[in-house]
Amino acid sequence: MGDFNLTVIVDAIRRSSGGMSRVELAQIVGLSPQTISNISRRLLDQHLIIEAGKEGSGPGKPRTILRLNPAGMYALGVHLDPAVTTVVVLDLVGAVVQHSRIATPGGSDPAAVIATIAAEIAAVVAASGVDQSLIAGLGLATPGPIDLDNGTVVDPPLLPGWDRVELRNALSAATGYSVLVDKDVTSAAVAETWAGGPSGSGSFIFMYMGTGIGCGIVLNDEVVRGTSGNAGEIGHIMVDPDGPPCDCGQRGCVKSSCIPQVLVAEAQAAGILDGPPAGSSGAEIQQQFSRLCSLAAEGNEKASAIIDKSAVLVARAVSVVANTLDIERVVFGGPFWSGLSERYLELLPPLLDASSAARLIHPIDVVGTGVGEDVGAIGAASLVLEHTLAPRAQRLLLEN
Ligand SMILES: [Zn+2]
Repeated sequence: MGDFNLTVIVDAIRRSSGGMSRVELAQIVGLSPQTISNISRRLLDQHLIIEAGKEGSGPGKPRTILRLNPAGMYALGVHLDPAVTTVVVLDLVGAVVQHSRIATPGGSDPAAVIATIAAEIAAVVAASGVDQSLIAGLGLATPGPIDLDNGTVVDPPLLPGWDRVELRNALSAATGYSVLVDKDVTSAAVAETWAGGPSGSGSFIFMYMGTGIGCGIVLNDEVVRGTSGNAGEIGHIMVDPDGPPCDCGQRGCVKSSCIPQVLVAEAQAAGILDGPPAGSSGAEIQQQFSRLCSLAAEGNEKASAIIDKSAVLVARAVSVVANTLDIERVVFGGPFWSGLSERYLELLPPLLDASSAARLIHPIDVVGTGVGEDVGAIGAASLVLEHTLAPRAQRLLLEN
């Protein structure tokens, strides 16, 4: 129980913008002044918080402000994407201390990929200068679906040859860190809660625009993972009844009509992109997709029409989820987001508003992530902070 109260207090301090006094803490978390005092002593001794000046000019003693100590704890994050692998070192307040990006090595040999990632992690930690004893662990974000019990990636469609690889154990053995695994879309939502500022609070979905499209879910400040850690798989929401056939047997699912690979194929069919057929590799799709977005930004009408149509279709899927969960905000991000952001931020708000069941009660904000392009890796590291420090009813993460 003492530890739960400790996490409650850390959580209240980290959510406050400028830190908090012990008196304010007692009011907000509803614990006795004596308990607050004891726990803040422990946190100070562990260097997780610092005393950061005093405030108050009225009668009575000025109050000492408590803040998280950025250098009190660190976490490593790795985002294993089909195209790019990103590694970050994150401090306690969610700031990136060091980061690197490498092309994900040929995906069909997991052992070689894991050895390469482990070497990259060691290099990034060395470059950061961070004391290794202060690193709480390593988070790994991967495309889903994942198997929480075994720490495996289950036949991910975009990582051929990775059927049931025990990623968690393999990476832990190769690096010596304890490893948490989560889906990349859920990790992105966790990143938003730790490092995204105001857009990371309350009830929102994180729309992850990657090689696939999925969403991370946060309700009332708590990340929702579902029974098996695989919540947020929205790929088979039907958004275009006359759209292209999907591998599930329906037509016009999100994953058959709005993912980058499909938009690139449409652009090739329209004669505005050439090159190899889409689908050859993650890096090629990323390159061609960037070209498509640039053409649209330069005023190419066919390119703009493809992007705009995708915005309308994505809005249909988002509104299904928004109405189901009664969220207040949609946060967009992920590796393919920056090229889409301008049109999506213009087109989606009125579309979502028009189909919102609660539009007379509250608006639904649409924003781009404040976390930036490394959101998957930052989220992976945030998993470690969340697991170590966040007060949660459920602890469904994988731990080694
Ligand atoms: Zn489908």
